[in-house]
Amino acid sequence: MQENISLLPYNTFGIFANAKYFTLFSSTEDLKNILQSTEVKTNGLCILGGGSNILLTKDVDKVVLKNELKGIEIISQNNEVALVKCAAGEVWHSFVLWCIENNLYGVENLSLIPGTVGAAPMQNIGAYGVEIKDVFFELEAMQIDSLQMKTFNQAQCEFGYRESFFKRKGKDQYIITSVTFQLNKKANLNASYGAIQEVLTAKQIENPTAKDISNAVIEIRQSKLPDPKEIGNAGSFFKNPEIATKHFLVLKKVYPSMPGYTLTEYLTKVPAGWLIEQCGWKGFRKDDLGVHARQALVLVNYKQALGAEIYNLSTQILESVKNKFDIVLEREVNIW
Ligand code: FAD
Ligand code: NAP
Repeated sequence: MQENISLLPYNTFGIFANAKYFTLFSSTEDLKNILQSTEVKTNGLCILGGGSNILLTKDVDKVVLKNELKGIEIISQNNEVALVKCAAGEVWHSFVLWCIENNLYGVENLSLIPGTVGAAPMQNIGAYGVEIKDVFFELEAMQIDSLQMKTFNQAQCEFGYRESFFKRKGKDQYIITSVTFQLNKKANLNASYGAIQEVLTAKQIENPTAKDISNAVIEIRQSKLPDPKEIGNAGSFFKNPEIATKHFLVLKKVYPSMPGYTLTEYLTKVPAGWLIEQCGWKGFRKDDLGVHARQALVLVNYKQALGAEIYNLSTQILESVKNKFDIVLEREVNIW
């Protein structure tokens, strides 16, 4: 248990903030012992993966627990599918590459998403037409109060768009220790997302492999998104709002170029990046605080912006989108 530790190396936003206590755990036994420590009992705790979906708005006056649980294994398989159990502290992208190398399909579209496997179910990570719920089998988590291990199946995780039980009702009650995925042994690749198709066509790849899809996704992401090693960020700051189709059609008359993706007869998803750009925020910069020039959904810290300043900027953006479009954006990033 270390005291007064800088969290700068542990958050991709590159925010300067300290943890009152900081400790690593690499086994569930370690974790149990830490949860029974006086420091945790007195101060409470925060669980940290790769720190790529948090915004530190102040020093953390709790025990920060960094997840270092490691290991990937195939626990059962038949001709069609394999169940792969992955420890929560594994790096997500390394897990994706492991699956591709082992000819197991389903996560290639989720290449290069930062962070750990254990955090992935938290917001049902998704990109390029795939979400982890599509390949999820079950997860194991330790209940913080009882120290009991519990297994959650797909239904119990209550996955939604960048949502799960663990982000809502189960918030701060469980520490996910492993996730088991059901992966296909026969390639059933999803190259339907426009940008992937464009890259494959440009490379004249007609029958892509999982590796081709993964490489295309990596190329698109590297061309559009700021690398946290160079410019601090936590990916999309807001969720894409799902609005009533009636409301969308009214707006579409005023803003004919407004994009929308039909979800159901009554619901349409609108890219939040477009809304923010229309409000004039794209490329905004004040000192070290900004909105990325290539993707308005990504708020950035050029070096020394404070977490509270980034939070205030997000509030201003929320207000301007509400005023212009009568749409209430919701923050995707976890505010600490
Ligand atoms: P952290 O930031 O460490 O934690 C996030 C939250 O989960 C915290 O509240 C934390 O307490 C909780 N948590 C972490 N581990 C556990 C655990 N084991 N048990 C219980 N709770 C836990 N997200 C997408 O969905 N799609 C994308 O395409 C995507 N692209 C991104 C691109 C960039 C450049 C960046 C910086 C981020 C992107 N993200 C994306 C967001 C982020 O990568 C994901 O949300 C990722 O799953 C966060 O993992 P992490 O380990 O860094 O979580
Ligand atoms: P994009 O391709 O420019 O598209 C903008 C938005 O429109 C996306 O967010 C996407 O919603 C939606 N969209 C585009 N094509 C779609 C389709 N065929 N069907 C349904 N919805 C569609 O987006 P981008 O910013 O470059 O991101 C690409 C992908 O990576 C997206 O899936 C995005 O979610 C993901 N991503 C996520 C984060 C994060 O931090 N959460 C960061 C970077 C990228 P969806 O978001 O629902 O896909």
